Amino acid sequence: MDQVDMPQPVKFILNWGRRYSLWVMNFGLACCAIELIATSTSKHDFIRLGVIPFAHGPRQADLLVVAGTLTDKMAPALKRVYDQIPDPKYVISFGSCSNCGGPYWDSYSVTKGVDQIVPVDVYVPGCPPRPEALLHGIIRLQEKIAKEDIREKWSGQLVKPEPAQTY
Ligand code: SF4
Repeated sequence: MDQVDMPQPVKFILNWGRRYSLWVMNFGLACCAIELIATSTSKHDFIRLGVIPFAHGPRQADLLVVAGTLTDKMAPALKRVYDQIPDPKYVISFGSCSNCGGPYWDSYSVTKGVDQIVPVDVYVPGCPPRPEALLHGIIRLQEKIAKEDIREKWSGQLVKPEPAQTY
């Protein structure tokens, strides 16, 4: 039987609720993690965008922010944390190291981008990016969530759209 389309106002309300209640899991690995923490403090205050610091663990989180240099040795731990987050879930790659290896791109031990391990929704460039850049990345993610079809997202059949860039 064909699925009946969800009424537009219901879609809007569901996505509105989801995009403004993002419990964040801080996967801080190096210097960029300090900027992530700065974004959560009173000066930049990402709570006003509906981002809640910090989830008690991956099972309570909606948004994983990977901030810092991922090594090949640490990669299985990242995958494990990602797998423990319930759907629907999102990933922001924060900073050059996380995006592509950054200054350590030619190191034997550094993973050249966390998207080799987990799917990334938004990339935030910089070494380190400023807290404002993370705020911008969060807004881009919220724009993506607003357009989602939640049934596809929950059923796991969604082909991930192209990740958003903040630049
Ligand atoms: S991108 Fe730069 S600031 Fe961020 S973790 Fe790598 S070296 Fe540190």
